[in-house]
Amino acid sequence: MKRYLVLILAMVFALAGVMAGCALTPELATYSNYGFSFQYPENYTVVERDANESSGTIRVGVENDKADFFNVWYVKTGPQWNIEGALEHRFSSMEEVEWVESLYRGELVETTKAGHRMVYQYYTVTHPAGKDYGVVGAFYCDKSGKGFELTTLTNTVNSEEEALEHFQRYIDSFVCH
Ligand SMILES: [Zn+2]
Repeated sequence: MKRYLVLILAMVFALAGVMAGCALTPELATYSNYGFSFQYPENYTVVERDANESSGTIRVGVENDKADFFNVWYVKTGPQWNIEGALEHRFSSMEEVEWVESLYRGELVETTKAGHRMVYQYYTVTHPAGKDYGVVGAFYCDKSGKGFELTTLTNTVNSEEEALEHFQRYIDSFVCH
């Protein structure tokens, strides 16, 4: 009898392990450099472009059957940095992309990130292959003296609510100073 009980318990734990594994996917890795950090799915590729102490771009993501990206653009600057201007710059560069058929922009939302004033805006981009969802946000960190423009772009969600949750996961893990 006791042996059966042990066997059943072992099966219950094995099953619990499988379920926990599902709930926890994906495993997260931490990007940390140039004085800031954030978490991203560990199987995603990290690309640093022209990155140094004063400015740069960090992009993490995956593109196979799905597209899923988080892009960080940062610049060493001062409190006069125009955070709304950073959003406009991002959107106008999206509009310039040849294959973009239409760009929809949601409301501009003002909030705070780690005590800094932050603005963000939901958007969708329509192109011949379908529709991508994302959020562009920007804030100035007076502790590190850096302006950050953070953009998500993904076709793994299909509503504004999900796009905002997707963006929020990156923002929540983002440490600016
Ligand atoms: Zn900060």
